[in-house]
Amino acid sequence: PCKSDQDVNDIVAEAAALVRKPANFKDIRLTCDLHEREIKAHCDKAQILQCLVNLALNAIDATEPGGTITFETKLLPEGNWMEISVADTGPGLPENIVDKIFEPFFTTKPTGTGLGLSITHGFVRQHRGFISVENRADSGAAFTIRLPVRGAKA
Ligand code: ADP
Ligand code: MG
Repeated sequence: PCKSDQDVNDIVAEAAALVRKPANFKDIRLTCDLHEREIKAHCDKAQILQCLVNLALNAIDATEPGGTITFETKLLPEGNWMEISVADTGPGLPENIVDKIFEPFFTTKPTGTGLGLSITHGFVRQHRGFISVENRADSGAAFTIRLPVRGAKA
């Protein structure tokens, strides 16, 4: 990895810009709910960008026209961790596949590679981070990446 100090809000904005075209094409709205100040991570920008694009493309695949994808960044209370989430208004994840989605080559799509989430998982782990997924109460899946904040004691 090639790490440097980055404002994660900038990386999220860049990921949103990269998926704007496919989202527009499917009439899906992109919204960003970013932490009001910069959130610094010591990270490989290209890897984190790739993670967010992978999550966003999955979200676009899962979401019907008229739906919304929301990027969110926040600092956790102690200030040592940040969370970046990508949430959609699709059907969410069936209980019986949640354990398998981060495995290489697992896909439910006719022409899927099943590599996006396993690569994302690997990149996040290389940053000593965590990735998790939950179904939202109303509808949709929300993937959350948790990364150490730059200079945190942790
Ligand atoms: P691929 O996109 O090629 O199928 P991924 O590793 O990116 O491979 O995703 C694996 C599987 O996880 C998908 O095939 C899909 O079943 C499920 N999945 C991922 N993201 C979502 C989402 N946002 N909503 C519903 N299911 C999802
Ligand atoms: Mg994918």
